Amino acid sequence: MKQELIFLGPPACGKGTQTNRLSEFLGLPHIDTGSLLRAEIAKETEDGIIAKSFIDKGHLVPVDLVATIIGKKLAGEDCKKGYVLDGYPRSLEQAEKLDIINAKVDGDNQVSFKAIYFDIDTQILLDRIIYRQSCPVCGEIYNKKFKPSKTENICDKCNVELKTRADDNAEIAQERFNTYFEQTAPLIKFYEEKGVLRKIDANGSIDEVWNRLLDVIK
Ligand code: AMP
Repeated sequence: MKQELIFLGPPACGKGTQTNRLSEFLGLPHIDTGSLLRAEIAKETEDGIIAKSFIDKGHLVPVDLVATIIGKKLAGEDCKKGYVLDGYPRSLEQAEKLDIINAKVDGDNQVSFKAIYFDIDTQILLDRIIYRQSCPVCGEIYNKKFKPSKTENICDKCNVELKTRADDNAEIAQERFNTYFEQTAPLIKFYEEKGVLRKIDANGSIDEVWNRLLDVIK
């Protein structure tokens, strides 16, 4: 059966770390809209230039721009068995778009669709964002305060300099939280009413959360 997994939760709730691991574990592609948009920005495409002006303010990128990128990805050969979708949908309008995209790409396949909500104490999240660093090569995520690399600013695995995301500063992060609570949090109720929501406690260590995640995807 095709396995479609989407993830909800506030910025820096740990979705990135867990969904990367889950995609490897299940052998399904990890599709992360934030990274796809940052790749467009790095290539300086027309979409990238538009996306940057929204990302820099902590706002959502226009719905049609993201839907086009996601629509192409989900129609790809590698998504035939399913996907791990991180960062999409982020509003009710995007959730409706996703239903339309899925109806097109699923055909007659039997599908298991789950929306996994990372329920977390939001107090600690701002520090997770402000001190976050990641490796541009392997994608490993570090945190100067909670999970520092062995050598300051250098990836333990790849030995290259760690990067900080342009939107990981206090001001933009606060706006990203506002955007999350206004536009994305209503999706919890939306998917609950459809009977596909699975809530996990996302407080605790990476392994603790991983074990809870495995319980709900069975
Ligand atoms: P993330 O890497 O998931 O924290 O996303 C970084 C930024 O990319 C967000 O603050 C938004 O500006 C933009 N973004 C990511 N995913 C979406 C989406 N599904 N819809 C609109 N904007 C998005």
